[in-house]
Amino acid sequence: MEETATITAAGGSVGVDEAFLRRAVELAEVNALRLALYQQTGDAELAAIPVLRHTREGSPFEALVLAPEDQRIVWDKAVAYLMGAGRAAPVTPTRAEAAELMQLFSGEPMGQAHIDYGWEDLAFEGFPRAAEWDVKPPQPVLDQSRVTIIGAGFSGLLAGIQLARLGIEFRIIERQAGVGGTWFLNDYPEARVDIPSFLYQFKFEKDYPWRSYYATQAELRDYLEHILDKYDLRRHIQLETGVDTARWDEARKLWVLETRTADGRKETIESRFVVSASGLFSTPQLPDIEGIERFAGKMFHTTAWDHAYDYAGKRVAVIGTGSTGSQLARGVAEKAASLTIYQRSPKWLSRVANYRHAIPAEERWLFDTMPGYVNWYCYGLHVAAMQMDAFHDVDREWQAKGGVINEKNDTLRANFQRYIRRKVGDDDDLYAQLVPTCAPLSRRLVIDNDWYDTVLRDNVELVSGKIDHFTETGVVSEDGTERAFDLVVLAAGFDVERYLWPVDYVGRGGASPGKLWEQDGARAHLTLTLPGLPNFVIMYGPNAGILSGSFHSWIEIYTRYFCKLITNTIESGAAAFEVRPEVYRDYNEKLDRKMTQKIWLEQMEAGGYYINSHGRPGVSMPWSLAEFYEMIRTPDMSEYTLS
Ligand SMILES: Cc1cc2nc3c(=O)[nH]c(=O)nc-3n(C[C@H](O)[C@H](O)[C@H](O)COP(=O)(O)OP(=O)(O)OC[C@H]3O[C@@H](n4cnc5c(N)ncnc54)[C@H](O)[C@@H]3O)c2cc1C
Repeated sequence: MEETATITAAGGSVGVDEAFLRRAVELAEVNALRLALYQQTGDAELAAIPVLRHTREGSPFEALVLAPEDQRIVWDKAVAYLMGAGRAAPVTPTRAEAAELMQLFSGEPMGQAHIDYGWEDLAFEGFPRAAEWDVKPPQPVLDQSRVTIIGAGFSGLLAGIQLARLGIEFRIIERQAGVGGTWFLNDYPEARVDIPSFLYQFKFEKDYPWRSYYATQAELRDYLEHILDKYDLRRHIQLETGVDTARWDEARKLWVLETRTADGRKETIESRFVVSASGLFSTPQLPDIEGIERFAGKMFHTTAWDHAYDYAGKRVAVIGTGSTGSQLARGVAEKAASLTIYQRSPKWLSRVANYRHAIPAEERWLFDTMPGYVNWYCYGLHVAAMQMDAFHDVDREWQAKGGVINEKNDTLRANFQRYIRRKVGDDDDLYAQLVPTCAPLSRRLVIDNDWYDTVLRDNVELVSGKIDHFTETGVVSEDGTERAFDLVVLAAGFDVERYLWPVDYVGRGGASPGKLWEQDGARAHLTLTLPGLPNFVIMYGPNAGILSGSFHSWIEIYTRYFCKLITNTIESGAAAFEVRPEVYRDYNEKLDRKMTQKIWLEQMEAGGYYINSHGRPGVSMPWSLAEFYEMIRTPDMSEYTLS
């Protein structure tokens, strides 16, 4: 193992006593601490400790834990190490050593794709998923290779960071008044990420001092501000400017974009490449309920929360119990006089540890001080997230024996049911209202932000079924009951089917996404490229919702792919790349075939945005992590025409 730096007194245990250290190690994820300590000391006793699996009630994830006596061994050794005056310098494993350590972490052998992905997620190297030139071209060539990025959410900012590393000029066009995309738009009460902060971050920016295990919207915006400054992105971003149209000029091999500022000024931008990072959840959906315009009280969508309106002591209705509606209910119920929750159908809720908890000073100290701990902690979150894959496979033999999806999924359903039963006790009517009929994960899992406890409050009522109509003063449900409200919150989600909307793209020879997608909705090659639209990529495009791995890891992989597509094109002396139509078709045929083995078609009645209006799963990806990682590691240039 290679020594990379010398630990200083400031990074050591100066000013920290043994009791503090003991609290710190006891708060730690013990398997991550074991790996960090083993990496640091090479103590064979640590490597020999077996890893156990533990299922928690209400959670789909098996936690990797140690037997109590082994846990104590790790704690004692960690305290002794951290107390040591002459601690060794931080040790960075080589790639081969990391492969062994990863297998030690989970106690299982791993395939190469998992090892490579895991190495990148461990992020011992500064920028693990960088795209690099083979031969960097001269400046005049670079000057002709400008990129326009549409959208300044995480995806658009990352595209900019990668392009800046390559020395390619870019401009980010954003219609909102600030950056952050989803996290600029959504500032409703209790808005926070529903996967851990340490997973919901760039792998090249993993040492950020998160304050919460699950970052709030405000904390995510702080992280984004940090990114903007550190990577000098501000000067590239044009806010309050929407892109209306984009036309490919075949003669000049350029995209010509028409934009409009918030005050109505129009501008034309020309660039060789266009990256759409316009987001899946950026077009709010309004519910189509009769008489909604008649309601005379206060009403807004969750993306347009009016913070000037004080609902303390008011009668509030929330329509919708998806991720957003469920997340905000707790906070609203605490402040409002009454809360009525309208749910069309119940969702499966998952319980997570440390949701809403601040990271204690002791563990923060460990993240900052214990070499390798943050890497293995993040890796542990990745290993947990990897478990999602297995719930989605349809097992025909299991079904023939009377099972619903597969053994794991059906066991999860029973686990969730036990959790709901424990919450509601012997209230059978409420239990029936809360248990979904569809299989878990046929729709997005919702995090339990004390939702069941909220429903049980005296000032909260749950109304199931359809809403019939609005009146001037309230809402009438399908059983004819009218309830009056001061405020109605529309937690109706997003129109996820309108990929790329509202930009009108016209590619080579009049090609357009609309024409390509008229048969059964949005598709792309590898989620990214479209035939007839040269030099154009979609970030997190159709069927990009992979089951395992984190959003940030995948957008890093997408940007590495398309940046290599751009550099390969430029280095070959060509001006444009375009995916071959037969490659697009073959990929999508394979995708459709694979989709038949997954849960979504099987559970069509579950509804939700996973199934598009053509009855096809248009958001989720059927491939396993290993399968898709191999496809998208690096572009196969034979799949593209260069011109
Ligand atoms: C409330 C909510 C909570 C979420 N929580 C999680 C979570 O916990 N974990 C998770 O993994 N994912 C979560 N997501 C999904 C989330 O959208 C992604 O994680 C991520 O933030 C998407 O980033 P993005 O940059 O791809 O898109 P976005 O954040 O949607 O950014 C797209 C940007 O493009 C801009 N834009 C679009 N069209 C144009 C145009 N024509 N001209 C100019 N600008 C344009 C939009 O204004 C927007 O700012 C959540 C989504 C929502 C809505």
